Amino acid sequence: MSVELKGITVHYPGAPTPVLDGYDLFVPSRTSTALMGPSGAGKSTALAVAGLLLRPGAGEVLIDGRLRTVEDAPTALGGEIAWILQSVNLLPRRSALDNVVLPALARGRRRSEVEDHATELLHEVGITDPHQPARTLSGGQAQRVGVARALLGAPTVLIADEPTANLDLTTGRQIAELILRLSSAATVLMATHDPQVAAMADHTAVITQPAETGGARVAP
Ligand code: ADP
Ligand code: ADP
Repeated sequence: MSVELKGITVHYPGAPTPVLDGYDLFVPSRTSTALMGPSGAGKSTALAVAGLLLRPGAGEVLIDGRLRTVEDAPTALGGEIAWILQSVNLLPRRSALDNVVLPALARGRRRSEVEDHATELLHEVGITDPHQPARTLSGGQAQRVGVARALLGAPTVLIADEPTANLDLTTGRQIAELILRLSSAATVLMATHDPQVAAMADHTAVITQPAETGGARVAP
């Protein structure tokens, strides 16, 4: 499913200028786009709009060519759209496997339906012991569990907001490679500061600082 932002404007209350002003982005179906740009440029904001978590002041979000709004989020976030964030927030006393399946159980899936797939995903991300308690995982291993958790349910849209920001460069790049490889059937939007991570994506879009341009723009 393609993801398209058309003429998106977001102006946070109290801010002197909009963060995004007539922002356009098109991510073709089953491709990945890395969002780059300085801190504060509006990458997280653009991702929140695309993920239907933030209603823009103006503009449209189209997923698979269909107009979508924040009202669609409860259904969309139940499987169609998945997120990977910079901090994984695992339940420390539960196993890696529990952490992968619990969100699916909360959405009404049965453990027996999802456990095999979850175990397979953990294997694919390199977690050899699915029963290892989350609190004993390193930062990189925890993010691997986060990747497995996001991919359970085979989302068609994957949004990753600085998924490698809390990791050292080498680990971060391994995780980014993993995210992009395992989500090849999904449409991926990933914010990153690391040019080497951005280079792994199919396309790169740069959000420039609104203060310089009067509005965020996509570089050609
Ligand atoms: P980036 O992800 O590129 O670092 P963000 O989208 O997080 O940029 O933030 C863009 C700007 O909007 C920043 O100046 C930030 O402080 C501001 N901002 C982000 N979220 C909010 C919010 N909920 N309320 C007010 N200002 C916000
Ligand atoms: P990022 O590291 O992705 O740029 P931030 O650390 O800027 O994100 O923001 C983290 C959270 O705080 C986000 O949910 C963002 O919307 C919110 N936020 C950021 N800046 C502000 C602000 N000036 N006022 C209120 N909320 C903000």
